[in-house]
Amino acid sequence: MKTRIALIAHDKKKDDMIALATEYKAYLATCQLVATGTTGGRLANEVGLTVDRKHSGPFGGDLQIGSLLVEGGIDAVIFLRDPMTPQPHEPDINALVRACDVHNTPCATNVASAHLVLSQLQQRAAQ
Ligand code: PGA
Repeated sequence: MKTRIALIAHDKKKDDMIALATEYKAYLATCQLVATGTTGGRLANEVGLTVDRKHSGPFGGDLQIGSLLVEGGIDAVIFLRDPMTPQPHEPDINALVRACDVHNTPCATNVASAHLVLSQLQQRAAQ
């Protein structure tokens, strides 16, 4: 079964997400990807990845991904949060990160941890 990865980036972190996805493109292309709306659109257009796009974060996309995760449909979450900008959907963001903790699902919330998670998953897939 393909590894199922959720990709989400707040606006000021979207360029970081594109750079990250470009670096891991060959691996990510073997995965089943789901993303919030705007992040997913950029991943498809700028990186060329096939992504199941949910609603934009402020319109419930984080909750949709959280629901999928609770049902066992997500193996890892890359969630590049912007800690310097208040977000209108803060409760949804917290709900998703909490769901990751409740279900012991890897959740990388910054670029450094995203590298660790993706490189480890990539290495495992190559074994
Ligand atoms: P977006 O949502 O990818 O649609 O911008 C991300 C978020 O703000 O949580």
